[in-house]
Amino acid sequence: MTNSLSWIENELKDIKNKDLFRILTELESAQSPEIIIDGKKYILLSSNSYLGLTIEPRVKKAAIEAIEKYGTGSGGSRLVSGSTDLHRQLEERIAKFKKTESAILFSTGYLANTGTISTLIGKDDIVYSDELNHASIIDGCRLSKAEIRIYKHLDTNHLESLLENDKNSKCKKLIVTDTVFSMDGDLAPLPEIADLADKYGCMFMIDEAHSTGVLGKRGSGGTEHFGIEQRVPIVMGTLSKAVGSLGGYIAGSKKLIDFIRNRVRSYIFDTSLPASSLAASMAAIDIIEYEPERREYLWTLINRFKKGLEDIGLTVLPSHSAVIPVLIGQAQPTLDFAKSLRENGVYTPAVRPPSVPEGMCRIRATLMAKHTDKQIEKALKAFKKSYKDLLTDK
Ligand SMILES: *Cc1c(COP(=O)(O)O)cnc(C)c1O
Repeated sequence: MTNSLSWIENELKDIKNKDLFRILTELESAQSPEIIIDGKKYILLSSNSYLGLTIEPRVKKAAIEAIEKYGTGSGGSRLVSGSTDLHRQLEERIAKFKKTESAILFSTGYLANTGTISTLIGKDDIVYSDELNHASIIDGCRLSKAEIRIYKHLDTNHLESLLENDKNSKCKKLIVTDTVFSMDGDLAPLPEIADLADKYGCMFMIDEAHSTGVLGKRGSGGTEHFGIEQRVPIVMGTLSKAVGSLGGYIAGSKKLIDFIRNRVRSYIFDTSLPASSLAASMAAIDIIEYEPERREYLWTLINRFKKGLEDIGLTVLPSHSAVIPVLIGQAQPTLDFAKSLRENGVYTPAVRPPSVPEGMCRIRATLMAKHTDKQIEKALKAFKKSYKDLLTDK
């Protein structure tokens, strides 16, 4: 037998030579402010469970009770036999939370983006996408076979010039952006983009993965934060981050949701979410909406932590969320920095290409509403020490 996979060896060598080889770190505990790796305790600064809801007793209890009633797996796709009253109830709950007419669930946010984008537009259409959009948006755009126009990060002037160039094309057009960018934590100018969508007759879709639970008084995300709930026709989000469960969704008009239910392949040909995830999401959304003090505490921590990092002399990229990127630059020093943090009791990995552009490697710190003041102080001390090590190594 000839080894048809021999080319992989060279690819792996190449990845390793570029300091980009990835290995998994196994956590032996839940997503909580303190985790256990190899039997040792660390402060966790890289969870997307921003409100700590994965370990919230009421959320866990809801999931356990749902398993008792519905079992562990859903056993089918929604359109065959995998649709329960829980699925409908969660869809209605999400629509109420996002103030839309309707909503539809997917197994993950990734599937919501790839499936929906590639169905809303096709090969004769045009999609306008922020250069730092999440991979699932990029893949949805590619899958659609539409013309992809990438605009400079947050740059509405650039976006408008692209729209102006295409204004005589009669095809369907879609503008798509993250609300909060996953590796930068900064915020898209949604009202300005909504204006452009109106002016140029484009569909407008936003991804609320990192804004849900964190932005807005009720925690419902970017549309609430900007007061533009009625101006974004296609709102995507995930249940896997602040909601602390699993799943993705699209919220919008009843017609949009009916269309998705009938046409989107990643919805139609995918086994539906299990009851445990649905019940956990439902309990978590109630907590997000009705217990704003968690979000307020999270923001206190975010502001204190950012100021602490800047006082140390580190470069914090301008974020407006619980994602706090500390810019280091090249891959190796960023790996060294993460290693030093870990030696000082803090776990947060180095982020390297292809997750971020070349030369923009960073420590992506994220905070949870369950971190204590003491843990934040200890984390800042670790950053100070690691920064000193970085400077002496140079
Ligand atoms: C995590 C993420 C997704 C994917 O959501 P999953 O539920 O994890 O599949 C989509 N968009 C953005 C911006 C994300 O950060």
